[in-house]
Amino acid sequence: MKMSLVNKIIWIIVGLLFIGCLAAGVAVKGWRSERGEIKILETTPKDGEKFVSRDKAVYIYLSRTLMTDEKADGNFLLKVGGINISHTEEIVNNVVKIKPIKNFEYGQKVEVVVRKELLGGNENYVFGFKVELPQDMKLDDWKYQAVERNLRLMKNYSEGLREIGVSVQGKNIYLIKLGQGSKKILLVGGHHGYEEESTSMLMRLADYFVRNAGEIPKEVSIWIVPALNPDGLDKSQRQNANGVDLNRNYGVSNWVLDKTTMFYSGPYPFSEPETRAVRTLFDEEQFSLAITYHTNRNLVESNSYKDKFIGFNKYLEKVVARTGYKYLDASDFSFEDLESKGEFVSWLYQVYDIPAVCVEMKTEPVEKSFERNKILLREMIKWVTK
Ligand SMILES: [Zn+2]
Repeated sequence: MKMSLVNKIIWIIVGLLFIGCLAAGVAVKGWRSERGEIKILETTPKDGEKFVSRDKAVYIYLSRTLMTDEKADGNFLLKVGGINISHTEEIVNNVVKIKPIKNFEYGQKVEVVVRKELLGGNENYVFGFKVELPQDMKLDDWKYQAVERNLRLMKNYSEGLREIGVSVQGKNIYLIKLGQGSKKILLVGGHHGYEEESTSMLMRLADYFVRNAGEIPKEVSIWIVPALNPDGLDKSQRQNANGVDLNRNYGVSNWVLDKTTMFYSGPYPFSEPETRAVRTLFDEEQFSLAITYHTNRNLVESNSYKDKFIGFNKYLEKVVARTGYKYLDASDFSFEDLESKGEFVSWLYQVYDIPAVCVEMKTEPVEKSFERNKILLREMIKWVTK
């Protein structure tokens, strides 16, 4: 049977439509498979891993490039303690970079959730990690280079690692700041280089308060200079590289020229770059209280001579009883009759009118000194906030 022309035309149209639909179908199918389901290939950090830097971003590597509509907010959640925290998302091809708006705190357990609506499965993809400090810090290594290295490792947590000056031999004098509050407590170690326990104890205190940042009240900040005399520290000598006893070099009315080797005061007050660095710091910042650390007389005294800060002395006496150190009541002394001249705490007494505490640590393992001084510092924090 011969088809009429009309029939032929109809069949051709039907055929073309069929082929067209088939092609379209393939195209639609192809488009679908291109989008496809999404698998998570890898994450950084991995699930259960420790995260050693608190300002790092989280990366998620997906099995395919995300389409614009798949980049919608809410597909990736960052949670701390079950609560969503603010973050930014940067998605380039198949890599998702998630960064918290505020740095993580150390010790925090963080969870990342990729929602099932994006993945096309039945369950959210969840992975978690804990924010920790680098494990390779050797806090008991008190040599200058080790201290410098440890401080740099800690830098990630601290907005405030900086140099306050440079020693005679050109080594940086570091200050690390913990907390943001306006009530500032300054801790200074290593006036005397051979008293390296004061440096390693302060490194431990810094490390502790980094890991337990929540213990520092909002209104308080702790400023730590662990090694004021880096040259003396490295040579294990009392004086700085000019042979000056830095704790006899402060510009206070009782300063005297002492030419003995042990207590050489320097030719004039603030003749040394290390003490000048402290002076500059006090020019720039107002501190509420300072603690300086020495060894090894096993006692604590304040700079509150006579009736100045009577209330503070009483408070300090009670606190010191809890640390196990002996308490030396400075109010028994007259400032002018002090045996040691040109000292840091005397300078604070006379010029800045703030309570300053001198801790003469005991000869014992640094862990024990750390425990005693943690008690003392916590109470000093209470004092400045009351
Ligand atoms: Zn000393």
